[in-house]
Amino acid sequence: MFDAVVVGAGPSGGMAARALAASGFQTVIVDKKKVVGEPVQCAEGVSEFGLVSNGIQPRDEWIMQRVRGAKCVAPNGNWFYITRLAGFAIDRPSFDRWIVQGAVDDGAILRTSTRVTSVTRLDDGWRVSMNGDHTDARVVIGADGPASLVARQAGLVRSLEKSIAYEYRFRSEDVPNLDPDFFLLHVSRAYDGGYAWVFPRGETVNVGAGGPIDGHAATLAFCRSLGIDVAKRTQTIAGSIPYRYDLTSLALPGLAIVGDAGGITNPMNGAGIHPGIFSGRIAGECAVAALSSEDPSAVLAYDRILRASPFLDPLLWWMIDRVRGWSDRFMNSVAEELHGLEWRAVNVRLALRVLAHKPWLAAHARDFLRMIRTLELCERYGW
Ligand SMILES: Cc1cc2nc3c(=O)[nH]c(=O)nc-3n(C[C@H](O)[C@H](O)[C@H](O)COP(=O)(O)OP(=O)(O)OC[C@H]3O[C@@H](n4cnc5c(N)ncnc54)[C@H](O)[C@@H]3O)c2cc1C
Repeated sequence: MFDAVVVGAGPSGGMAARALAASGFQTVIVDKKKVVGEPVQCAEGVSEFGLVSNGIQPRDEWIMQRVRGAKCVAPNGNWFYITRLAGFAIDRPSFDRWIVQGAVDDGAILRTSTRVTSVTRLDDGWRVSMNGDHTDARVVIGADGPASLVARQAGLVRSLEKSIAYEYRFRSEDVPNLDPDFFLLHVSRAYDGGYAWVFPRGETVNVGAGGPIDGHAATLAFCRSLGIDVAKRTQTIAGSIPYRYDLTSLALPGLAIVGDAGGITNPMNGAGIHPGIFSGRIAGECAVAALSSEDPSAVLAYDRILRASPFLDPLLWWMIDRVRGWSDRFMNSVAEELHGLEWRAVNVRLALRVLAHKPWLAAHARDFLRMIRTLELCERYGW
């Protein structure tokens, strides 16, 4: 019997495996992919805070470029800064492999081309069936992405709502008027609470759209609106993103569900790298506590920690429901007032000046106040 089986070698599973292997526990990481991290399903944006606060120092081998923050662009082209905190465009396959390699260096075993087909409870742990065989372990970490078999097999899933993200990669010279220093998030009623993006990535750029929409059609239309010739794309990337996952718990004695598998992505923007590495790290630490104390129920602390964290703040879901009802006129009007500024520029003086010539915006006062709290939360924990 192994100490732990981690199902899924994405960033969430990799972080859990690192914590387990570093504490000397016999850990197996399994992934159905032939090569960890490939094919990529990501726009590859992550904040510096997200990495560093989880003990990851940015490394040249997977950093494509540094960005100076992110801008929100309204349908009329007016924009404001969502954040001026630094972040990175990374190379996800190299990043995922680097995280997993850290666990392997500490003694974990990596099994690729290995698909888990069932997870069942034993008296003293769990049986994980894969490739016609099985492995028993005292702890299982379900890090198997948005369709999580582990969460379903453990009987934790009440409902799963996903959205679709679709993107093309281009060479930088094929994207007109590229802002080389910032991630751009284009909002519009057309994306129904989702958005379209332009993420510079060194010599390449990821351009796409996501939300409860037809991501392919939206990406094509978005590229055309920017004057990008889609025939020049060098790669097509698509995948689903957890939107609203309802799990009875993220943990059972000896089992934890992390990252996308637990729906731990930011509903405002779909970002899941930072939430994933945080949840993987915390689940790994709780699993270490359980194995060290020979008390499987110590894993249950993971559910409490995650639910109390900014990543699962109910405000995020309240806010995205409001945003889905916003018209282009409303978004244009707000962006007009904030054009070129940071959202932090909103103060009583600015609010009174705006209300003097747009009194109809007063009806949205509660949304504005809550949006400011949301932006504050997302600046650090949303990407
Ligand atoms: C198009 C797109 C763009 C995105 N852009 C961004 C972005 O810019 N920034 C950001 O922060 N987030 C972004 N995301 C979200 C981000 O990619 C995910 O949140 C992140 O990958 C979650 O990591 P994870 O380790 O939880 O899951 P994953 O990375 O999905 O890893 C799960 C792993 O489990 C394996 N697996 C699944 N089932 C089994 C099984 N039965 N047996 C064995 N192995 C299995 C899979 O092969 C996979 O390797 C984007 C997502 C998409 C689709």
